[in-house]
Amino acid sequence: MENILVLTHVDESGALSRASLESVAAGAELSAALSAPLAIGVVAVDATAAIAQLAGLQARVLAATAVELAEPRFASDAAACEALCRQAAATIVLAPGSSRFTRVLPAVAHRLGGVTDTHITSLTNGTQVEATRWFYRQRVEAVITRTVRPWFLLLDAGTRAPYAATGAAPSVESVTLTLPALRTQVLGIKAPKQDEQTIRPDAKLLFVAGAGWTKKQADGQVHAADAEERILGFIRNADASLGSSKSLVDQSGENQAVLKFMTHLNQIGQTGSTPRHVKGLSTCCHGEEPHVVGWRFINERRAINLDANCGWARGKADVVYIADAFAVMDKVNALLAEKK
Ligand SMILES: Cc1cc2nc3c(=O)[nH]c(=O)nc-3n(C[C@H](O)[C@H](O)[C@H](O)COP(=O)(O)OP(=O)(O)OC[C@H]3O[C@@H](n4cnc5c(N)ncnc54)[C@H](O)[C@@H]3O)c2cc1C
Repeated sequence: MENILVLTHVDESGALSRASLESVAAGAELSAALSAPLAIGVVAVDATAAIAQLAGLQARVLAATAVELAEPRFASDAAACEALCRQAAATIVLAPGSSRFTRVLPAVAHRLGGVTDTHITSLTNGTQVEATRWFYRQRVEAVITRTVRPWFLLLDAGTRAPYAATGAAPSVESVTLTLPALRTQVLGIKAPKQDEQTIRPDAKLLFVAGAGWTKKQADGQVHAADAEERILGFIRNADASLGSSKSLVDQSGENQAVLKFMTHLNQIGQTGSTPRHVKGLSTCCHGEEPHVVGWRFINERRAINLDANCGWARGKADVVYIADAFAVMDKVNALLAEKK
């Protein structure tokens, strides 16, 4: 009989992160499929808000709390996760593949004589645990089974609906935590302001800009400043995540007009990323196959292109607007501004 433990952590607001709640939902499904007991482990300074989010769950809830857990730090996080795993006598450990847990859980698995698999997208619910992940730039999907326990599975975010609380909050068992000497002191976090960050994995919409934004337009001129204003205006107004084609981000090395806020981190595709968003809007991008493979997990796809023969129009998008993206996005931004 498996013992399932879901490890969770809180975000800056003190509530469980969305990815943690997705892992809770995965744990509940797996527990029902295997008829195996479920435990939820919470890593936090104060677990009160997190516990309320677990209301209605048929599970044992364990909390490892300490003021040292306010910030992600290897030594304290690893000690907390290890204590939770031991207390739950876990054989299967599910956890969000967040930077916080990805950093510590392979080490925790090693301490417990277990193994870890990362980037898990689904768990097949048969009589044994089978975990699915993609390899080779999302081209090959593998189903993994293992006999070694405990087996740690880090789940990719955006792969299932988060657990939604109903009813009364569950009772909680506190786990005694013995922290090792902490050599690392967290003095603060230096990060760009949220509205300066253009890559937003939790956004509903992916907005892709292609090289067309920096090409000569009907008047024979390049309009990089206008492009920048429209793209950033839309990203801010719609809280969208910004993606790019390879051609656009490669231009900075070729002394061409560039959009300064774009980096290779924005690149979507075969040699870029494969993000998960509910919707995607491609603009001034041709929709060639090496780019479109990065849209594998975008459910609803739309594109704006001047060319009725572009790749998107050949079955790669649900809707293609044959139009000038400068004019369309100008209008869309004006409508969004009115709404705000
Ligand atoms: C091994 C390999 C790996 C690759 N990996 C990737 C990858 O990971 N990601 C990736 O993106 N590419 C990748 N590529 C490159 C890919 O094949 C394309 O070259 C690239 O995606 C083209 O970028 P683009 O569509 O932005 O530019 P272009 O092909 O130059 O297309 C620009 C488009 O903008 C349109 N346009 C211009 N002005 C307007 C306007 N005013 N309104 C509307 N539309 C307008 C034009 O009609 C045109 O369709 C890879 C290629 C190879 C060989």
